[in-house]
Amino acid sequence: MSSENRAQIAVIGGSGLYDPGIFSNTREIKVYTPYGEPSDLITLGELEGKVVAFLPRHGRRHRIPPHKINYRANIWALKELGVKWVISVSAVGSLNLGYKPGEFVIPDQFIDMTKRREYTFYDGPVVAHVSMAEPFCNSLRKVIIESAKRLNITTHPKGTYICIEGPRFSTRAESLVWKDVFKADIIGMTLVPEVNLACEAEMCYSTIAMITDYDVFAEVPVTAEEVTKVMSENTAKAKALLREVIRSLPEKPDERECSCCHSLKTALV
Ligand SMILES: [Zn+2]
Repeated sequence: MSSENRAQIAVIGGSGLYDPGIFSNTREIKVYTPYGEPSDLITLGELEGKVVAFLPRHGRRHRIPPHKINYRANIWALKELGVKWVISVSAVGSLNLGYKPGEFVIPDQFIDMTKRREYTFYDGPVVAHVSMAEPFCNSLRKVIIESAKRLNITTHPKGTYICIEGPRFSTRAESLVWKDVFKADIIGMTLVPEVNLACEAEMCYSTIAMITDYDVFAEVPVTAEEVTKVMSENTAKAKALLREVIRSLPEKPDERECSCCHSLKTALV
């Protein structure tokens, strides 16, 4: 990768965030990976004097469903560009009446209920079992939580994200299990295996989960119009938050205070 095609920060945009429109001097590049094509071309742009890589997780015009996303190619491509921090943005449903539509969550745990994805870069002959006890980068989470506070964006600093296979939504019976038995707070379809692949690639990863609606347990009638309104408000807030987070990240990745960048050193191999 040529030296001008380098970035230390990446944003993976989810539903509603296909073009953050907050970067200057943008250009698009195609990155080749051993796992095939990433979801789209990667946009490199500048913000606050830093180069940022942006990748829309579902591709432009939302053409890739959650179970078909090439997560390995996406993470590999970002690693190839030199990315150290991955800020993931995704729309989620709420399983907790205290976590309301329009609010943000910076999850600290996840439960994986996906079924048929490519979960690892270590398919053999090299084998590695990375630790997932603390699946998100706590120093990146802290930067995001503090940035949201400064912007007065209502944000829950903790939460458990349950990732389902999709593309269908949960049944009401499933939703009640996720909420009452598993004690998950939010639900989505795209966190896994993005989060654990980022860990295998020794990158700091955190998610800004934007609540769109209550999952079906709540039996709250929701109109498409209401969901669209919340989504567009969430997207506007997410753009402001991304700007603040990128501004607040340290200039040099060596200033990272976390163990994510050494995940393979502590992996069972
Ligand atoms: Zn980290």
